[in-house]
Amino acid sequence: MSTELCADCVRLLESMQQLAPVGNVYTSVPEGLRGGLLRYIVHGIRPGDFLTAVLSNDLAEACARADDLNRHRLFDICFWLYNHAPSPCWKSPKNVAAWLEAPRSTAACGLLR
Ligand SMILES: [Zn+2]
Repeated sequence: MSTELCADCVRLLESMQQLAPVGNVYTSVPEGLRGGLLRYIVHGIRPGDFLTAVLSNDLAEACARADDLNRHRLFDICFWLYNHAPSPCWKSPKNVAAWLEAPRSTAACGLLR
């Protein structure tokens, strides 16, 4: 996923890969979700059901949609969103719908192929 990403994706990906200390453990965005999150935040592409539920702030739906890995990583995802994601792109179904409708960068990006 590292080849020819646009500048915005590169910047956000770095923050996802960073290990952030929380108490006496470290947190980062699960690798399998990074592409979907970047496609959504930077390029406005609809994410899967699990990420849509997380971004919409729907805890019960997120738990219901999570796979075996991500149900144990909800904190890591929310921690990153809270600290790095643009506020208007998440926190409610209304925000998610508006974010998906807004025009986005058409810069060439390896994530869009
Ligand atoms: Zn990009």
